[in-house]
Amino acid sequence: LVPKTQTRLTKQRRIILDELCRIKTHPTADEVYEIVRKRIPRISLSTVYRNLEMLAEQGKISKLGIDNERMRFDGNIQEHSHIRCIICGKVDDIPIEPKVTWDEDYSDLGYEIVSCNIEFFGKCPECGKIEPS
Ligand SMILES: [Zn+2]
Ligand SMILES: [Zn+2]
Repeated sequence: LVPKTQTRLTKQRRIILDELCRIKTHPTADEVYEIVRKRIPRISLSTVYRNLEMLAEQGKISKLGIDNERMRFDGNIQEHSHIRCIICGKVDDIPIEPKVTWDEDYSDLGYEIVSCNIEFFGKCPECGKIEPS
């Protein structure tokens, strides 16, 4: 028998995953909370945070960004690149596949390099239209 709280958590997590896969805006945890709240009015922000962490750990979603403050989440777990607007902070997918290679032996670092995450920066179409004052 599955405890009641367990069932509810799983259902909440499914809804969070569902919403995240539907939207392409790479929302922050706060934005996910605002969206999910429309379907689960009583959900708390900390529950959303916890479920996002769990989904990321399970590899069902990916986390973008290195500082937790501006951490964004992506329901698209296929390998793809991102571009971030330097004005409004919006993040979009871009079909550029950066080829990164390293010829030198970096074993001195003590790390085995397994992947590399490149983020592009630019002005989004909306911000690009604004005349500089
Ligand atoms: Zn912008
Ligand atoms: Zn993405």
